[in-house]
Amino acid sequence: MDHGPRTGNRVALTFDADMTDGMLQNLRTGRVKSYANLRIVDLLEREQIPATFFLTGKWVQRYPEVTRRLAGNPRFELANHTYGHEAFTGDCYDLPRVRATGMTDNVARTFRAIEPYGGRQTRYFRFPGLCHDAAALDALAPLGLTVVDGDVVSGDPFATAWEPLVRAVLDNVRPGSVVIMHVTEANARMTDEALPHILAGLRERGLVPATLSEVLAGA
Ligand SMILES: [Zn+2]
Repeated sequence: MDHGPRTGNRVALTFDADMTDGMLQNLRTGRVKSYANLRIVDLLEREQIPATFFLTGKWVQRYPEVTRRLAGNPRFELANHTYGHEAFTGDCYDLPRVRATGMTDNVARTFRAIEPYGGRQTRYFRFPGLCHDAAALDALAPLGLTVVDGDVVSGDPFATAWEPLVRAVLDNVRPGSVVIMHVTEANARMTDEALPHILAGLRERGLVPATLSEVLAGA
């Protein structure tokens, strides 16, 4: 799914939590301080904004306390973004490729990593880089999940200024939209600066953030 029904005034803010072995290595060597942007979580909590987090298994393992905090917020939904942010097709942003025979296990294992945290668990899944084909969809069919891309791409990975993110979101957002952002701090440094402006722009447009479940259901 890319978005919910174009009725009403709800939109879903979604935040991906990528984590690869290369990123873990950056944390270990101290090259990168954090891939968990707590300023985003702080802001959403303070303003009581609903949001949905697409978590990788490796991010959950690296940030159990943050995961507990996300799960503990009744306005936040948790969703699945693969175990180690692998590519499920060839030619997908140079991401490490998951073997065709390992796709089902990869995603099942991620649900198992997230489930113990409780909270608002979902069966929503997002492919890294949104890269998918028929074979990948077939492999995941037994898991009974819903693949969610999004119709508003903020472009926040590796952004160097917040203004373009705000424009990318506010120029394209409509009722039922699913907005894709990242909570990965070092790889998306401008997201927390853009977010207050995005929230203000949504308010001006009469659009109200809601969980992905609510938006996809047209609630
Ligand atoms: Zn991702």
